[in-house]
Amino acid sequence: MSITVQNITKRFGTFTALEGVSLDIPSGRLVALLGPSGSGKTTLLRIIAGLEVADTGVVRFDGEDFSTRTARERRVGFVFQHYALFRHMTVFENIAFGLRVRPRGTRPSGRRIRVRVTELLELIGLQNQAGRYPSQLSGGQRQRVALARALAVEPSVLLLDEPFGALDAKVRLELRRWLRQLHDEVGVTSVFVTHDQDEALEVADQVAVMNCGRVEQVGSPEEVYHRPATSFVYNFLGNVNLFHGRVDDGTAYIGAEATGHLVFVRPHALEVARRPVSANFFRATTKHINAAGPVVKVEAVTEWGAPVRVEMAPERFRELALRAGEEIFVTPRDPAIFTNNERAG
Ligand code: ADP
Ligand code: MG
Repeated sequence: MSITVQNITKRFGTFTALEGVSLDIPSGRLVALLGPSGSGKTTLLRIIAGLEVADTGVVRFDGEDFSTRTARERRVGFVFQHYALFRHMTVFENIAFGLRVRPRGTRPSGRRIRVRVTELLELIGLQNQAGRYPSQLSGGQRQRVALARALAVEPSVLLLDEPFGALDAKVRLELRRWLRQLHDEVGVTSVFVTHDQDEALEVADQVAVMNCGRVEQVGSPEEVYHRPATSFVYNFLGNVNLFHGRVDDGTAYIGAEATGHLVFVRPHALEVARRPVSANFFRATTKHINAAGPVVKVEAVTEWGAPVRVEMAPERFRELALRAGEEIFVTPRDPAIFTNNERAG
């Protein structure tokens, strides 16, 4: 089932939560809505689900206008941050719930339900936990049960709102990989909301980056990371150094007096040397060095007094034999230059 969102606007009183949002979610894909808290992700998800009504715009399922259909008619499966499993029901009964409450005409037989729930228990790797209660499971296991419960009714689309947000970092990492594999197996069109850029980049086929109720960019993880359309996207998707700059005849200048442009350079794209090795460099003084980890992080201050963050391979760090308080020559590679209207230059 494909989903098309066209020109959605949503206001709460005088506050505009969504403004002219359009988005195409092709059938069978896993699309992430990525943005900071308050950017409108949940509101958009609820409008897709039919739990919230937009002020303007259209939601289409497989091309058909579903804007006035109820959540039930849209057949969406929902997974929230807080599992909301039924505490007094076993894992098995939680998963079976959506099938048991169907009207008699469409309700599967008891035997069919057992077969379906058993399949789902295998899919989520909890075959041996069918008789447990939610309180006897870990947080990660509970979220897997919540997912199985959502999938039991064979939803047309699966909507996940920060499903791993309440779990600790290591479990989150495991579950996001697991979800990716599960999606490859099940293939249901899915929309995954997160404010965690690593999670979005790792899990999704397509990422829609949201900011202040608008979609800033839609693209593959690689596209949004390597070819950010706006300075917001560049900033949000990774560590970055921001310099003020000006562009003359196609050459970017950065420094204290430069204005009119913003020049972004990722910390690993700043090359450090002991002496000038090209015509393009600025001077900086090292302040703090963190050499614990797979990359060495160097905090420095530019000759015009701006903080700058550099990352380099441990081998390069040893070659340079850097210490705090030393002068370095820094050459920026692959700068991204944005003007005031924020489109990539
Ligand atoms: P996100 O999920 O990206 O954190 P939300 O979609 O939940 O963002 O909210 C976007 C903005 O809309 C927030 O500023 C929030 O306070 C506001 N908002 C959301 N729901 C309501 C509501 N029912 N009434 C008033 N304001 C709301
Ligand atoms: Mg939210």
